[in-house]
Amino acid sequence: MRVCVLGAGVVGLTTAYFLVRDGHEVTLLEGRGGAALEASFANGGQLSYSYVAPLADPAVLPKLPAWLLARDSALRFVPRLDVDQWRWCVAFLRACRATRSRQTAMELLALGASSRASMHELVQRESIDFDYVHNGKLVVYRDAREFDHARRKMDSLVAAGSAQRALDAAACVALEPALERARPLLAGGIHTPAEEAGDCHRFGVALARVLEERYRVAIQYETPVRGIRIEGRRAVAAITPHGDVEADAFVVALGMGSVPLVASLGIRLPIYPLTGYSLTIPGAPGRTPRVSVTDLHRKIVYAPLGDRLRIAGMVEIAGTKVSQRDGRLALLSQQAQEIFPEAGDYAAAATWCGHRPATPDSKPLLGATHHDNVWLNTGHGALGFTLACGSARAVADTLAGRTPSVDMAAYALNR
Ligand SMILES: Cc1cc2nc3c(=O)[nH]c(=O)nc-3n(C[C@H](O)[C@H](O)[C@H](O)COP(=O)(O)OP(=O)(O)OC[C@H]3O[C@@H](n4cnc5c(N)ncnc54)[C@H](O)[C@@H]3O)c2cc1C
Repeated sequence: MRVCVLGAGVVGLTTAYFLVRDGHEVTLLEGRGGAALEASFANGGQLSYSYVAPLADPAVLPKLPAWLLARDSALRFVPRLDVDQWRWCVAFLRACRATRSRQTAMELLALGASSRASMHELVQRESIDFDYVHNGKLVVYRDAREFDHARRKMDSLVAAGSAQRALDAAACVALEPALERARPLLAGGIHTPAEEAGDCHRFGVALARVLEERYRVAIQYETPVRGIRIEGRRAVAAITPHGDVEADAFVVALGMGSVPLVASLGIRLPIYPLTGYSLTIPGAPGRTPRVSVTDLHRKIVYAPLGDRLRIAGMVEIAGTKVSQRDGRLALLSQQAQEIFPEAGDYAAAATWCGHRPATPDSKPLLGATHHDNVWLNTGHGALGFTLACGSARAVADTLAGRTPSVDMAAYALNR
């Protein structure tokens, strides 16, 4: 079958990979001049397969007023005259219900497990270098009550197959000595030894090369998709400035770009941009954390990428217009130095701002639309690097008529 994948972010690239491995003839269309230049460019780098806590959680609700008002808050809401923003927020609040949030965590855990297996298969088969490490992840808590709550939640995830353990502050520092200066701040941490990290942009670029050179996938860069030509219930071509690209099936993996594209087909996607920021600093030998760390209080993630440290965080519900980039990056740097003051050269940081294509319940949208041959693989929010391989595998399985290892109903547009 001829399959046209739209978007060469980490989700589109992995989709193309698992489709071509199934023997399809794959074309990949991308608006930018290279692979993984949007949300997949300088994200947190964490492959967090077992720690998939959705943002929509009942614990978030009491914290919302303080988060939204405090100047140095991790979460920021900038109200816009935008009905999509308000609709998304209402749906987000609904998704915070305890039973729903628990169910979501279990479903994300299943997709995470499938993702880990598919990522391992991919890296074993292909020679790609992306500062990939099996370094484990430590989520640190500053508040004793929050740590207790996390420990209780961990028990249900452990029962569902996630290998995690709770550590007191001293054990956190013993595991990751770069936390020594932050020790007085820590109540404890949850360690997930099997988590991984890597550079998502390098992964994307390397995978794009493998797709072109080894599997003869035609990747057309600088090819913005303006629409999809429909005949009856079927799509026949992607419309681009360089002409129509015909195919038997189309997979929409355009991140934030998915929303306007499928809106032209009469499909409304519940995806809103959650803006975040990152710094990449040259590491200081012996003082850069080797374990991936998440500072839950600040909602900042740290991942070692070769001799660099990636620091990413902040969640802004503000649309795609970014008004305080420099101020937010300075705040991120200040907050990172609170916990890792000697981890590297903060003055030499490469800075970045990106938009997580997020659904209210933190689950991606995978699978069918009301057009017979248009499929979705989008809306991965804060976990797109982590969930890309599992989502791609599930979509490829569906197109091939195999039963995916995850329950596709959990990720359906009309869930
Ligand atoms: C600050 C931050 C930190 C993060 N940290 C992590 C982390 O630690 N771990 C993790 O798993 N995830 C993390 N994420 C989330 C992750 O980066 C995203 O979920 C993921 O990159 C989404 O990938 P994507 O391929 O769906 O979207 P994108 O990477 O945005 O790719 C979509 C592609 O489609 C192209 N496109 C859009 N519209 C069109 C069009 N009309 N025609 C042609 N091409 C088009 C774009 O140019 C782009 O290349 C983070 C995100 C942010 C912002």
